[in-house]
Order: sequence, then structure tokens, then C-alpha cells
Amino acid sequence: MVVEKSRKSPGRFKIRRCCFRLQPPATCIAWIPTGTLLLVLGIWLAALTRIQTEGREARTAVASATSQVASSFAAHIDKTVHDADVIVGWVKYEYERSPSTFNIDTLKDKALVSADTALQVTIVGPSGEVLQTTTPDAQPVDLSDRPHFIAHKTNANLGLYISLPVLGRISHHWSLQFTRRLNNPDGSFAGVVVVSEDPTFLTTGFYNLDALGVGGMLAVLSDSGNLLSRLAAGELASPVEAPAPEYRDMLDVKGGVFADPIDRMRRFVTYRHSARYPVAVLVGMSEDDALAGYWHARNLYLLLAGGLTVVLLTAAAFITVTMARLAAARAKMQHLAETDALTGLPNRYLLTESLRQCIEREKPFGQLALVFVDLDNFKRINDALGHQTGDELLQNVARRLARVAGAESFLARVGGDEFVLVIKGARALAAAQSLASSIIDAFEIAFGLRGNSYVMRASIGIAVYDADTEAEYDLLRRADLAMYAAKEEGKPANLSRYRVYAPDLSTRAMRDIERQQELQYAIQNNEFFLEYQPIVSLTTGETQGLEALVRWRHPEKGVIPPVDFVPFAERTGFIVPIGELILEAACAQFSEWLESEPGPLYLSVNVSAVQLIHGDLVTVVRRCLDQHGIDPRRLKLEITETTLLDGSAAVERSLKTLRLLGVRVVLDDFGTGYSSLSQLTSLTVDGVKIDRSFTRGIPDDRAALAMVENVISLARDLGLTLVIEGVEGEQQVNWLRRFGDIEVQGFYFGRPVAPTTIRVGRAA
Ligand code: C2E
Ligand code: CA
Ligand code: CA
Repeated sequence: MVVEKSRKSPGRFKIRRCCFRLQPPATCIAWIPTGTLLLVLGIWLAALTRIQTEGREARTAVASATSQVASSFAAHIDKTVHDADVIVGWVKYEYERSPSTFNIDTLKDKALVSADTALQVTIVGPSGEVLQTTTPDAQPVDLSDRPHFIAHKTNANLGLYISLPVLGRISHHWSLQFTRRLNNPDGSFAGVVVVSEDPTFLTTGFYNLDALGVGGMLAVLSDSGNLLSRLAAGELASPVEAPAPEYRDMLDVKGGVFADPIDRMRRFVTYRHSARYPVAVLVGMSEDDALAGYWHARNLYLLLAGGLTVVLLTAAAFITVTMARLAAARAKMQHLAETDALTGLPNRYLLTESLRQCIEREKPFGQLALVFVDLDNFKRINDALGHQTGDELLQNVARRLARVAGAESFLARVGGDEFVLVIKGARALAAAQSLASSIIDAFEIAFGLRGNSYVMRASIGIAVYDADTEAEYDLLRRADLAMYAAKEEGKPANLSRYRVYAPDLSTRAMRDIERQQELQYAIQNNEFFLEYQPIVSLTTGETQGLEALVRWRHPEKGVIPPVDFVPFAERTGFIVPIGELILEAACAQFSEWLESEPGPLYLSVNVSAVQLIHGDLVTVVRRCLDQHGIDPRRLKLEITETTLLDGSAAVERSLKTLRLLGVRVVLDDFGTGYSSLSQLTSLTVDGVKIDRSFTRGIPDDRAALAMVENVISLARDLGLTLVIEGVEGEQQVNWLRRFGDIEVQGFYFGRPVAPTTIRVGRAA
């Protein structure tokens, strides 16, 4: 036999989960930061788009406002210049008509010149001298160097000339001069008529705070780009000191945002040319005024978006961390809930859940098989060696099962010594059967543990999911039933075995349940009774002892022999209470017999291994003996050979205690088990009963004869008591006589009978 080496660390091991395994619920944690980032992105996109739109709208609004003002301002300038031109034209006409009689004062009379329309009107002679002027007490000045004088003198067709602002030599005020050439009747140069106006006159009174705001600007430009008049933010600027080439640039740009060359203020500016005169207007609105609302809104949007971003990111971070912690805790809990702590394998809960999901989802008819593995002798080893060793052994078993099953299988531990393997696939049954065979082969190798080796037996049940299977519990129950059947089959030979579930197993299981109920009822109503069979001395023929044999008087089925219910009662544990009833009844009966003379020497009672392992036989025996005043040496307990050979420490301990009490232990059915004669020496018994299968061979079967001979001589050597069972005929009696004084039992000497018919004393 090959023994597996014990591993140093029996700890956990990994087995890869197959696709069968329960799908964990999808985690949404990653979605929180991603979603939040997308949301933040969306917020910013919306905010920036909104800001852009509002900016565009604000600029359009400014443009339309300045454009409106510019149109009316241009019209206004057009009219103002026209008014001046009318005066220039009128003077030119009147003067040319009659230079000698023309008197400039008539202008005032006709109210063509007043303090608020014009500063002064002057007629300059052909040499630049002042001929007439509306300014009283004017000093004689020479104006021949004035640009308008030179322009008109050199160009007869110039028309209306508008000068740049100049410091009037007569008025001593800054003024704009509107001039036209004066001609003699022959067309030669006769001088210039000059109308001087205050430059502010062009712009004052037109400034509208509502339309232009406090930072607005009105300006009038000449076609050469020179500033003629300007009104900004309600103040007049000096136009001369700032010829402002940038204004000239406006001739090309005709509007837009630019920094004012005079006050450096950034303004939205609209340029509009006069319809009739070589002048243009500029209407400006300060960027600050124009965009104040927009900027306010923009800041608000930015603040809002920023605030939302901070809040969202903080919240997302918090939620993510919290959820991650929760998820980790939940995963840990789930792992704990789904895992068998000892082996690290999935537990029953995970198995049933996974099966349930798989069945609900896929309905894998014929493609899902369970291999239910149950260890036959684990409990005894566990009781004998202690739980720690038992645990290590289970870990070894789990490891070996995992190895045999391979990486693709799902292996779960579903109970103390129960494991389930799940197989999925097209040929699930065949795969399960082959797996079961492999497991059985693998169990042929003993498990090495702490220097010892233990042969484990496994009973394996296989069930395949089919249309008749209701759900996962049904499938599990079927595999369990099949395992149970395999255990029944394997038990006599003490072999590992597998069985595939068949429907009749279910019927049998139902019957089992019924039988258990019947047994329960039988115990309550004490439907059991005992018959006694004498054990006699071969030489004297006197009854030495009486073996109590149980029967069941079933209310419907009549008397049932022990072979038909004792094995079942052993399997189901009912033998423990039944055994107690038997011992009690037997002792009561025996104490009665003791009163008659000569009473039997001893009482033989059969006990089952189950009573030794799971019941408290020692206490029961002691109580019965005490109660009925029976000498312990008069009680023999018959135990089958296989029970003893299975040799759990619990059995041995109980037997030892019983023997210490004085009770004798007899090995029943000797020869049917696996013990050889030499093993008798090491067994802790007081006697043997040779099984009737050997007695049957007397006197013809040489092997049987040799066996009987050997056992008898060995028993004598070892000082063991000896009973030959099943003696039925004279021939056997005769052959046995050669051994002298031995005890015999059998139909020849007396069948098992009711206690009332027992005749104590010499047998027939
Ligand atoms: P066992 O302990 O070997 O009991 C002897 C069986 O052999 C009895 O069958 C008896 O009727 C039968 N027998 C006796 N002489 C002869 C003979 O000359 N020829 C043949 N062919 N058979 C003979 P029974 O009463 O049917 O009991 C069968 C088995 O049931 C017993 O075998 C024993 O293992 C078990 N059993 C009976 N009573 C009890 C009990 O109270 N407790 C337990 N645990 N087992 C019991
Ligand atoms: Ca017996
Ligand atoms: Ca027997």
C-alpha cells in the first residue's frame, strides 16, 4: 500500500473556480468617479458655452447700441455741419454778389449767427487780411498762413473745407473753421469766408448716459483721421495735444474694441461717416460698462461651476471611499459566508446558491452532474484521534479531491465529511462516473498523518440534473441518496463505491423514512420481545448460558426477525434505544431464572458496534446489573468481529471499561471478518463464537474442519471461552466430541424460544 506523505502545512489551498461559480454582483464603484468626472465635464461645458453665448450676446448688444447712437450722432453731425455750411454759403453768396456793400452784421440781424450756433464769422481778403468779422473790436491779423486759406487759394473747386481745431487768432478760442473760397466775378481768388465754431458744440448735448454709460465716448473725425471734437465720460478732452494717430487707424478698422489713445480706456467703438461731409463719428462704449453684466454673469457661472465641481468631487470621493470600504467589508463577509473555514473550499451555502443560479439561468438538462463524496470511516478516526488530527485529515482529503477533480471542477465541502463536486458539460454523467472512479482510485492510497497512515473509504453518489429534477435541493438530495446507496453496497466489503441516482432510490428512501417512523413507534410501544437459545456443554448437555435474541412483533406484519431490522436500526441509530430495551428485558428475565435451581450460569446479549460508539453502553450495562442484582461475571456481551476490527479507540475504551466491571466480551461470528487466528491474541476479548458457516462444513469440509480445530486449540492456549454456533445435527455433535468439554449452540440443542418455555437444566 502506498502511503501519501504528510505535508508540513495542511493549511488552505487554492482551487480554481470554474465558470459554474456564482457570479458576484457587478460593482458600480468605478462608475461613481467616472460619472462624477463626466458630470463635472458637462457642467463646465455648459458653463463655458453659456459664458460664450452671453459674451457674444453682450457684444452684439453693445454693437447694436453704439451703432444706433452712431447713426443718430452721424445725422446730428451732418446737420450741424450743414448748418455751418448754410451760413458759409449764405455769406459767400451775399459777399460775392456785392463785396462792397456786404455787411457782416446783417448776419446777426437775420439771427443766422448767435452765441450758441457759431463763435464767429470772418471774411478774409485775398492777401489773408481780415476784411470783416462778427467779433467786435478785433485786432488786424494775417491769416494767409492758415491751411484753409492756402487750400482755397490754390484750389478753386475745393468746396466746404473743415479745418482741424485751431486756436482762433481773433477769438483766441479753440475752434473749428468751416471755410469756402470767395471768388471775384471773373473767378479769381477773392478771399475766404470762415465760420468758426466751438469744437465742443459738435458733441455737447448729445451724450446719452443711458445709452453709452459713464465710460462712453463720442468723437468726430476728419477724413484725414484727425480728431475734431471728442466727448468722453462727460468731459472734454483737448484735441490738439493728441492728434492721435490711432484714431486715424479707425479709418481702416471702422469699429471694434480698441484702447482709446487719449484716456487709454478700452472701448467698443462704432465708426459712421457723414452722408454729405468729409467727417465721421466714433461712438464708443467702455468695455467695463458694456460687459459689466456679462462679466458678472460670467463670474457667477464660473463660481457656480467651480463650487459644483468642488462639491461633486468631494461627494464623489467620499462616496467612493465609503462604498469601496463597504464593498471590501461585504466581499470579506461574503467570502466568510461562502467559504468553509477549515479547507478554504466553497461551503454548502455557496454550492446551493451557485446551483440554484445555474439551474434557473441555464436549465442544463443532462449537462450538470453532482458527485457527492462521503467518508465512511471518518467519524471513528475523528473520535479516536481527536478533532485536531481529524481536521488535518479532512484538509488532506480535500486537497486530494481537488487534485483528482482538476482545476476546472467546482469542489465544495458541504458537511463534516461530505464533499460535492460539480461537473458541467455535454457528457456530464460520463465525466462524473470517470471522476468517481478516479476518486476511488485515489482513496486506495492511505493518508499519511503524523507518522501514521489511514485508509479512508469513500461512498460516492452521482446525480444528473434532468427534467424531473425540481431544483438544486432536489439534485443534492438525489446525489445524497445515491451516495447512501453506495454506502450500503460498500459497507459489507468495506470498500469505496459509487452509485448513480435512479428513481427507485427515491422510493427506497421513502420506505426508509416509513421504516424509521415504524421503529420509532415500536420503541415507544415496546413491540420488541426476546427469545432465548441455550448454550450447552457438549459433555454434560447442561445449559451453561442463554443467548437473548430480539424479535419485533409488528402490529400488521407479524413477527419480524432481527436480520430484517437490526442492520437498518444500526444505520439509523435506533439500535441504541432498542439495545437498551433488550439489555433491560434480558437482565430482568435472567434475574428471574437465577431464582430457580439450578439456574443458567450466564446470559449472552448481542450488542452492536453503534451502541459502543454512539450510546453509553457502560452506564446502561452497569444500571441493569445493579437493578437486577446480577453478578457482572454472569453477563456476556457478543460483539461481531467486524465491529472490533474497525477498531476505533472509542470501542476499545468501552470494552475495556466493561471488562473491568467484570462483564465478559465475546467475539461473535468469528471467521466472517478479516481477522486471522494470530490476531485473536491481540484482541481484547474473553471468548469467541465460531460462526455457523464453519459448523455447517462439519464433518466434510476439510478447510472448515481445520479452521475449527485451530480456533479451538488457540482459544484453549489463550484461555478464551469458546462456543460453536449452529450445531444442527448428530454428525456435527459426534465430530465435535473429540474436543472434550466445549460449549455448543444450535437447533440440535434447542431453538430460540420464549422464556416461558425454557427449561433450565439438562438438555435433551
Ligand atoms: P447471532 O448473534 O449469530 O445469533 C444466532 C443466530 O443463529 C440466531 O438467529 C439463531 O436463531 C440462529 N441459529 C441458532 N442455532 C442455529 C442453527 O443450528 N442453525 C441455523 N441455521 N441458525 C441457528 P436470529 O435470532 O435470527 O438472529 C440473527 C442475528 O441477529 C444474530 O446473529 C445477531 O447478529 C442479530 N441479533 C439477534 N438478536 C440481537 C440483539 O438483541 N441485539 C443485536 N445487536 N443483534 C441481535
Ligand atoms: Ca450472537
Ligand atoms: Ca453468531
